[in-house]
Amino acid sequence: MKDDIAILGAGLVGSLLGIYLAQKNKYNVSIYERRPDMRLMQGSAGRSINLALSDRGIKALEDVGIMEDVKNICIPMHGRQIHNADGTQTYQAYGKEGQYINSVSRGELNKKLMDLAEAHGVEIFFEKKCEDINWKNNEVHFSGNNNMETISPDLIFGSDGAYAASRLSYQLNHDRFEYHQTFIDYGYKELTIPAGENGSFLIEKNALHIWPRGNYMLIALPNIDGSFTCTLFFPYSGDPSFESLDSKKKVDSFFKNEFADAYKLMPGITEDFFNNPTASLVTVKCFPWTHEDKFSLIGDAAHAMVPFFGQGMNCGFEDCLVLNQLWEAHQGNWTEILPKFQESRKPDADAISDLALANFTEMRDKVADEKFLAQKKIEAAFSTAYPEQWTPAYSMVTFRPDMRYSEALNKGMAQQKIMDSIMSAERDTSWEWNETTEAKMKAALQ
Ligand code: FAD
Repeated sequence: MKDDIAILGAGLVGSLLGIYLAQKNKYNVSIYERRPDMRLMQGSAGRSINLALSDRGIKALEDVGIMEDVKNICIPMHGRQIHNADGTQTYQAYGKEGQYINSVSRGELNKKLMDLAEAHGVEIFFEKKCEDINWKNNEVHFSGNNNMETISPDLIFGSDGAYAASRLSYQLNHDRFEYHQTFIDYGYKELTIPAGENGSFLIEKNALHIWPRGNYMLIALPNIDGSFTCTLFFPYSGDPSFESLDSKKKVDSFFKNEFADAYKLMPGITEDFFNNPTASLVTVKCFPWTHEDKFSLIGDAAHAMVPFFGQGMNCGFEDCLVLNQLWEAHQGNWTEILPKFQESRKPDADAISDLALANFTEMRDKVADEKFLAQKKIEAAFSTAYPEQWTPAYSMVTFRPDMRYSEALNKGMAQQKIMDSIMSAERDTSWEWNETTEAKMKAALQ
C-alpha cells in the first residue's frame, strides 16, 4: 500500500514538492491549501506581482522536467538598469554574456505548478487551513468550509510560508526549538507602470530597473503584458517614510521629485499608493526543521528571508532538489533522509538569508556609488581573466547552482576583504583595472 504524504500549503514550494514526490510513484500525495483555488478566481488579474527566477530555481524545475512549461511565462533580465537621481541611467550586466535572471508572475507560476502537480496525480484540497498538528499521532487539524477536519498521513511537509502554522505548532509542542524572527525597519508597497499602446514596454523590457536613493529604493520588473510591477522599499518612519507620506499631495510631489522618469509613467501613483497594502519584511531562522520520519518544514516555513537577493523561492526550489537527491541516495528511507536534509540545508539557508540582508544596502545605496561601480568593474575584469580564481559574489549565488550558498558566502567574504584593501587606496592610483591591481589581487589569492 502507498504511504500518504500531506503537504501543507500549495504555494510555489509546496506545489513543486508535490510534483517531485508524485514522480516517485510510491505515495499518495495531497496538498492542503488555506486559500480558495486561485485558478478559478474570475478576473483575479488585479495587481500582477512578479519574482526573479534564477539558475538554482531553474535547475529544480529542469530536474522534474517542467522548465519548458515555465519558460513561456518568463522574461529574461540581463542586467540592472540604474535610474540615478540626476536623471542619468547606467546599465550593469548581471554576469557574463548569456547569463540572466527571469521575471515571472508569481500567480501564473503558482497556477502552472498546481496544474502540473495535478497532472502528476497530486490531489489539492483548497480552503483547508492547518490549525494544529497532533505530534503524538501525526494528525493534522484543518478549519475551513465551517467545519474542522482531521487527517492522519504517514509524512507531513510544512510548506505553509513565512508565518507557517505547522512551524508554530512544532514550536509550541517541542522543547528547545530555536526560533528567530527579525523584521527590518522597512516595508514595501507594490505599484505599477502600465503597458504602453498595444502592450508595449515603456522602459527597457529585459532589465531589472532600480532607482537607488540611499535610504530607500524603487525597483521594477517586467510582466508579459507590457506592464512593470514596481516595488517601493521604504522606511516605516522618519522623513521620508510611509508614515510621513500621509496625503495624495505629498505622495505626488515625492514621486515627482525623487523618481521623475518613473513618475511620468505611473498615472495611478497616488491611488495605488493608498490602495495597495504596505507589507513588512521578515527573516525567520529556526531549528530543527524535521521530526523523526514524520515531518519536515521546507521553503519559507523553514527559512523566510528578505527579498534583496531574489533567492527566497529559488532557495525553496533548491530545497526540493536537495531533498530529492537525498531520497535517491537513501532509497526513500525517511528516517535517514530527513535528518540529513536539515543538516545539509540549514547552513545554506542561513547563508543566503544573511547575504540577502547585506544586499539591501548594495541595492538601495551602493549601486549608484562611484567606488562601488569601479570595484565591480575590477572584479568583472579579474574574473574574466581568471575565471577559476574569482567569481563575483552575485554570480556565485545566482548563476552557480553547483556551489552551495554557504560556500558562496565564505568565498564572497574572502574576496570582499581583498577588494576592500584594493579600494582603500587613493582613487586615481588604483580604482581601475591595470597591471598593479591585477598583481595585487593575484598575490592576495596565493
Ligand atoms: P508561499 O509562497 O508563501 O506559500 C505558502 C502557501 O501556504 C500559500 O499558498 C499560503 O496560502 C499557504 N498557507 C499559509 N498558511 C497556511 C495554513 N495554515 N494552512 C494551509 N495553507 C497555508 N524569491 C525569489 O526567489 N525571487 C524573487 O525575486 C523574490 N522576490 C520577492 C519579493 C517580495 C516583495 C517578497 C515578499 C518575497 C520575494 N521572494 C522572492 C520570496 C518568495 O516569495 C518566497 O520565498 C516564496 O514565495 C516561498 O514559497 P513557499 O511556497 O515556501 O511560501
